Amino acid sequence: MAGNGDTNSDTSGAVFGDERPKIGVLALQGDFAEHLNILRGLGVRAVEVRTLEDLAGLDGLIVPGGESTTIGKMMLSSGLSDGIRSFFYKGGPVWGTCAGMVLAASATTGPRQPLLALMPALVERNGFGRQVHSFEAELDIEGFDGAFTGVFIRAPFFESVGPGIEVLSKIEEKVVAARGDNILVTAFHPELTDDVRFHEYFLREVCDL
Ligand code: GLN
Repeated sequence: MAGNGDTNSDTSGAVFGDERPKIGVLALQGDFAEHLNILRGLGVRAVEVRTLEDLAGLDGLIVPGGESTTIGKMMLSSGLSDGIRSFFYKGGPVWGTCAGMVLAASATTGPRQPLLALMPALVERNGFGRQVHSFEAELDIEGFDGAFTGVFIRAPFFESVGPGIEVLSKIEEKVVAARGDNILVTAFHPELTDDVRFHEYFLREVCDL
């Protein structure tokens, strides 16, 4: 098993051996630290991405939850917006959680804001209503054995998705998880639970590791 009592999990090669993959987590704002911890526990090299240079050599990138308007503006001013788009359109795997899902969309039902437009989808920010800031829901996820507890915090949903996008989970007609070839989005926060199945799914199915 990974770990083996090694407290510095970043040096653990138990799962991937010496050629450990390198996964970046966009660390401009939001809950990037939780993703880094889980990734390190799974035996990958997990690095904070704050500058264009940090994108070099990544095997995958997570755009975390936070405030999508803030992250969007910071990505534009740092040049990371173009950098991430170019990483993605060359085949780089990306996973957006919550605010990251908003940023991945090509269009929003709300006021204009900077988007990465990585997948054809129409997103509704804060789509579960203002008064319902957060809730948990037991979700059926395509390809998963057993329910996954989704932690939703002012979460978005996709109202519709374009061709080539597979819907992985819905709440009523609201799309809360979806994927394309090299992109995964979740409206909820798997990094705030002990269940690492979505991180494993991203590494295995989207990053091909
Ligand atoms: N509502 C936030 C946004 O649109 C996302 C909230 C979150 O990431 N938990 O940016």
